Amino acid sequence: MEKSDILAKGAILQRDQETYAIAARLVGGVMDVATGRGIADAAEKFGVEMLKITGDGRLALIGVKEEDIDAAYGEMGFKAKAGIALCQQYIKACPGNAFCQRGQQDTLDLARKIDERFYPYPKISAKVKIGIAGCFNSCAEPAIKDIGLIGLPKGWTLMVGGAGGKDPMIAEIIARNLSDDEVLEMMEKLLKYYRGLSSRPQTRNLRLGVILKKEGKERLLRICGLD
Ligand code: SF4
Repeated sequence: MEKSDILAKGAILQRDQETYAIAARLVGGVMDVATGRGIADAAEKFGVEMLKITGDGRLALIGVKEEDIDAAYGEMGFKAKAGIALCQQYIKACPGNAFCQRGQQDTLDLARKIDERFYPYPKISAKVKIGIAGCFNSCAEPAIKDIGLIGLPKGWTLMVGGAGGKDPMIAEIIARNLSDDEVLEMMEKLLKYYRGLSSRPQTRNLRLGVILKKEGKERLLRICGLD
């Protein structure tokens, strides 16, 4: 029988049409040593020869046999889960002031808070890419993410509507000097707005930047209480 991706388990069929890539989801792209060891043990046990750091900071095991998928996740200490495979909804964060000398804010802590509160962005059919950078150097590319955050000495700058891909867009700044709690509050409103539009046939699957162009920045500012 012809094989295909097993999305319910976050497993992507590889070019050999036989084996799969599965990924350990690492918020902010960081892991402790025990997690790293678990991933390496899983790779060795199931004959995986290559690991790949994905664009959003997950660590993928490439070349897992179909019958080993569940056990490999178990060995790594992660659960097989739908929605994690295709890199459609994720947070990419730079090391921020936890590790980087230039960092002005704690990107990893904010990534964790956003992940705990909102992931997996239920009922939003379009991409939700979030980039969190600890300074203007923008190593997590916030300007080309649906929601971008830049840490500066007085707080977070929030940008909305960026994208890469076929029609690249640069995100627009909608608020400055936000605390972590204010970012979460504003994201709640933004995601609710995005979810609402995602359920309408005419705006389903549209990126936030396209919606922003159609509906106007003023409407978004009103929704976020910024007018
Ligand atoms: S964006 Fe700034 S804080 Fe983050 S890694 Fe780059 S230089 Fe460091």
